[in-house]
Amino acid sequence: MRKIILLFAVGLLALASVLVFRTLQNGPAASSAPVRVPVEMIQVDAAQTAAHLSQAIRFKTISTQDRSQFDPAVFTAFQQWMAVSYPDFYAAVTTQTVLGSTQLNTWTGSNPALDPVVFLAHQDVVPADSSKNSGWEKPPFAGVIEDGFIWGRGAIDDKGSLIALLEAANVLAASGYQPERSILFAFGHDEEVGGSGAQSVAALLKSQNIHPWAVIDEGGAITTNMPDVAAPVARIGVAEKGYLTLILTARAKGGHSSTPPKITALGELSRAIAAVEAHPFEQKLDKVTRAMLRVTASADEIGFFKRLVVSNLWLFGGVVEAQMKQSNSGAAMLGTTIAPTIVHAGTKENALPREAQAYINFRLASRD
Ligand SMILES: [Zn+2]
Repeated sequence: MRKIILLFAVGLLALASVLVFRTLQNGPAASSAPVRVPVEMIQVDAAQTAAHLSQAIRFKTISTQDRSQFDPAVFTAFQQWMAVSYPDFYAAVTTQTVLGSTQLNTWTGSNPALDPVVFLAHQDVVPADSSKNSGWEKPPFAGVIEDGFIWGRGAIDDKGSLIALLEAANVLAASGYQPERSILFAFGHDEEVGGSGAQSVAALLKSQNIHPWAVIDEGGAITTNMPDVAAPVARIGVAEKGYLTLILTARAKGGHSSTPPKITALGELSRAIAAVEAHPFEQKLDKVTRAMLRVTASADEIGFFKRLVVSNLWLFGGVVEAQMKQSNSGAAMLGTTIAPTIVHAGTKENALPREAQAYINFRLASRD
């Protein structure tokens, strides 16, 4: 009996040593921790930056699914405003227009031997319902500044990034700064509906034999409600999920609603949507998510216990997965998501639709 207890204690001690060793290996002081490069911060005028973002939100640079509704005049007006608001930036760069409304700005570096870095931001936003019952607490295109927030469509996605880039670059340009490595600023006009502008920029760079050293895109927002972390967290995305929209179509005979068949087109479509939702994809941690968690856990602000858990996913992976599944954003990191987003059917309340359509948007994990 004593032998068994002793063996158990030794086993427990060994396990604890492995857990702690792996945790320390992933800590801020460990050699395997990410390299920290001190950055010299530049000063921007916060009030002016907020005012600029507020003004930017007022331009209704909307991308709609129906391409015929695209309004190039709004984008032209927006770009004229950008030129007036950031004169030093636009004096320092060469500006090219791609596909009419996408802008590629090149800030030529002093060392032509270096490949350029590319910063991306998009000018367009998705539509917003301005009616009373839309759920917007402030009008979506007014750019209201209140309670320490800037309100409106695109405040985060992605005019926030666009204005941050322009503001910083304008301050640098005004100070006479010239980058060593060329910097390209690509501002797309249709990111929300497929990004043909960005694709054309990529094709243009390829045709000119330009191979970016790094491409930095919008990324996620800064979150302040991370469990166990007191400081705000800006996650750096290193991978992006795939994108797929499938359209389901149900057809029926139509006719008068007073003499319906057993199953109508809408009934059949609803069953199909429910069936797709009832078969979710597998949710599990993969290589990329594990790497992201490990890097996040190496930050100073992360407590020891959390680091212990994340540094030992071989043991606690199941617990972490269960916790991530508790929130929609956590679950989305574990696999392909399924989201029915649009339904089209019927035009009259007493007529049976001959066709019903549903759009289902998938965000694909790489393993699917
Ligand atoms: Zn975006």
